[in-house]
Amino acid sequence: MADECDQAQATEALHVQAALSCIACRSHEDQEWANGRVVCLDCGEPIPGARLRILPTACRCVACQEEADGDA
Ligand SMILES: [Zn+2]
Repeated sequence: MADECDQAQATEALHVQAALSCIACRSHEDQEWANGRVVCLDCGEPIPGARLRILPTACRCVACQEEADGDA
């Protein structure tokens, strides 16, 4: 039972983290595309589909967005 609860919380945290976005990236026009996939503006890696489902206009991967937020 406890495991189930922990897992739910972990999933929730993941979604919150995945929803991180910069203020500038509110439009699909701000996204960078390569080979039919949205790629991170900073590292150029494809942004995971799970992140894009939560945040369709995401322009950075979670790691780079966290870094960008941290620098701000
Ligand atoms: Zn990145």
